[in-house]
Amino acid sequence: MKRNEFRTVRGYELLNQNKKQLTSAMEDYLEMIYRNIGQEGYMRINTLSELLNVKPSSATRMVQKLKELGLIRYEKYGIIFLSEEGKEYGKFLLERHNVVERFLKSLGIKENLLTETELVEHNISKNTVERINKLNRILEAHPEIISEFENFNSSTDG
Ligand code: CA
Repeated sequence: MKRNEFRTVRGYELLNQNKKQLTSAMEDYLEMIYRNIGQEGYMRINTLSELLNVKPSSATRMVQKLKELGLIRYEKYGIIFLSEEGKEYGKFLLERHNVVERFLKSLGIKENLLTETELVEHNISKNTVERINKLNRILEAHPEIISEFENFNSSTDG
């Protein structure tokens, strides 16, 4: 690697940046909104703030930002819908979450699976997500690879 190929984390973020420039927090909100709309058809500000353990005022502020980016429609009564673009983005975020979670599960991560997934998911490119997804499919089709990995892992432990 050439010297000038190194970047700060922020540099990588800028490199991977979608045209929408979502922060990790915005992605968390959008993913949660997409999740809930998939189940209930809509999302309420109050439900959103409860699910993400934030104050309703913080949720309102973030929702306003997402609205400005054209990702959600938020009119009144605290009910949120997604725009077409928001749906597309939310779908990607939920899939990315699931891909990372499935992969970490294959690695045998049980404790803090959700936290680990949350930490990893925001910082990988679309290309990496796609490759992990392919690897997941191979691993799921060939459980013997996982068994071999588990055996190797326990034989080299400690
Ligand atoms: Ca997530």
